[in-house]
Amino acid sequence: MAGYQEFKLTMADVKEILMGEKEEEKQQDDVVTQLEPEVKVKTELKPDDWLCIACNKKITTDKDRFEYENQSEFQFINPGGYYFNILTFCAADGCKEMGEPTMEFTWFPRHSWSYAMCRRCSNHLGWKYIGKYSFYGLIKERLIKGAALFN
Ligand SMILES: [Zn+2]
Repeated sequence: MAGYQEFKLTMADVKEILMGEKEEEKQQDDVVTQLEPEVKVKTELKPDDWLCIACNKKITTDKDRFEYENQSEFQFINPGGYYFNILTFCAADGCKEMGEPTMEFTWFPRHSWSYAMCRRCSNHLGWKYIGKYSFYGLIKERLIKGAALFN
């Protein structure tokens, strides 16, 4: 008898669970509708975009990678002994330049540099170079790839 009662209880539970799930499904539909604008924003971000790691502003894209003498990634050490991984781009609309261009300690011969900062949060992202070529050398660790945010 005890077994039968238990079974009855289980059936009631199952019914409740099924109804509960239906209710949840309905609620999930509502949530999806509400989240639509946010989803739209997310799809505007492309996997090959590079963003400021501090504020996630779009800085540039892989389509704007620039090859300086057949190379678009460099390792440099500054006079202070700091080691930098540098990616080169021909454009970086998310950057604003700061300071007077100078040739002092330049990593790219005959190219002067000025600071390149994030337009939104002023994080120092790298340097703008001007010489035979005009390009940006951005610090890899201060950028985040759009693809990383898709996960
Ligand atoms: Zn920023």
